[in-house]
Amino acid sequence: MSFNDLGLMTELLQAVTKQGYSEPTPIQAKAIPLILKGHDVLGGAQTGTGKTAGFTLPLLQLLSQRKCESDKRPVRALVLTPTRELAAQVGESVELYGKYLPLRSAVIFGGVKINPQIQTLRRGVDILVATPGRLLDHVSQKTLDLSKVEILVLDEADRMLDMGFIHDIRKVIALLPKQRQNLLFSATFSDEIKKLADRMLNTPTLIEVARRNTAAESVDQAVYHVDKKRKRELLSFIIGSHNWQQVLVFTRTKHGANRLSRQLEQDGISATAIHGNKSQGARTRALADFKKGSVRVLVATDIAARGLDIDHLPHVVNYELPNVSEDYVHRIGRTGRAGNVGSAISLVCIDELKLLHDIEKLLKRKISVEKIDGYEPDPTIVAEPIKNGRNNNSGAQNKNNRSGQNKRSNQRPNRSGNRGNSAKETTSGSNKRTYNVNKKKPTNS
Ligand code: AMP
Repeated sequence: MSFNDLGLMTELLQAVTKQGYSEPTPIQAKAIPLILKGHDVLGGAQTGTGKTAGFTLPLLQLLSQRKCESDKRPVRALVLTPTRELAAQVGESVELYGKYLPLRSAVIFGGVKINPQIQTLRRGVDILVATPGRLLDHVSQKTLDLSKVEILVLDEADRMLDMGFIHDIRKVIALLPKQRQNLLFSATFSDEIKKLADRMLNTPTLIEVARRNTAAESVDQAVYHVDKKRKRELLSFIIGSHNWQQVLVFTRTKHGANRLSRQLEQDGISATAIHGNKSQGARTRALADFKKGSVRVLVATDIAARGLDIDHLPHVVNYELPNVSEDYVHRIGRTGRAGNVGSAISLVCIDELKLLHDIEKLLKRKISVEKIDGYEPDPTIVAEPIKNGRNNNSGAQNKNNRSGQNKRSNQRPNRSGNRGNSAKETTSGSNKRTYNVNKKKPTNS
């Protein structure tokens, strides 16, 4: 299958060729023709599958082929994303793929000044990529009119719900015209996602690529059993002895991310941390430094790393295993993207054996174990409960988290645009999520 077979216009084919893509990825091959025909789509796709181009290319085509009734250039396509980083990346993709078309796009998210965004919106924008909070700030300040939106995209919808954005999403939907095309992408399909899809989509076509909860096949995975207090030493050793130059390392907490990046620096390995307590400027700088290779290690928490797209990222390290097994899949999906080969290693201490077991259950296979002489775990150490875990006390805690999320999502308006990322960092995911997809087409309510 080639891009030429998908019914895309010359300007888009040119842009795709410029990106060096030789053929569409499976999600692109399925989604593009359907979206061009005007269908609502419920897309199940893991990270790194090329879903951004899957919805962006047809969206650009539809907008450029349809005449806009108003000369004020109203927003005609709205893409909602859970995080600022993902919004920025989707925005970059819209620019790249739309570079030969006369459409205007903009990205708006919190944590940065609102006034430049107001100016941009005033000049007129065809495609708007936004996080829900700042979008609603603009609506309440009457600097944004959503009444002409023709296409709505919810990207990484599962993560949006995890982050407590459901109320914001509902508010946004209520501001849109009833008649519109809807595209919802999610890596997982919990009951909540199905409910949202039922409410939002109009007789959608369900498309899926790659079985969910299957780690990308192009990622080599390995586990190193090691004592907790020796993890940092082992990490420095592995990075140094393999001479790894670009490594994304996951910790469970923001504090842990800061501490580890400082320690790696002390070991002579340049490192920086990215998490929700950092200002947007600091996050953007850290990511840019990492992408251009001026720091070797980016230490991140799950939420901050969500949606990060780093070309050819070769190595992911789970310094600590995530409490929610599904986050493991998201983490290792940062590498091995779009057919590139990647490696993901996990440093596992005795306290985390249960988490490892849960991950292997989800993956339906064992992860191979590697050993490095001198770092074998001390057999006399006894397992302790994980202090900063979200699953310390399973049910009750999750319930509390959920209601907490909802409260946080109503914390608007906070004019700084910072909607309490610190809270979000600990609330992503719930052990109650279910990942079985109902293969039937969802019906509309
Ligand atoms: P996404 O899943 O949308 O985040 O995309 C993951 C990565 O795949 C991005 O770096 C894209 O630039 C890249 N990509 C998207 N489509 C293709 C394609 N058809 N061929 C090769 N790479 C692609």
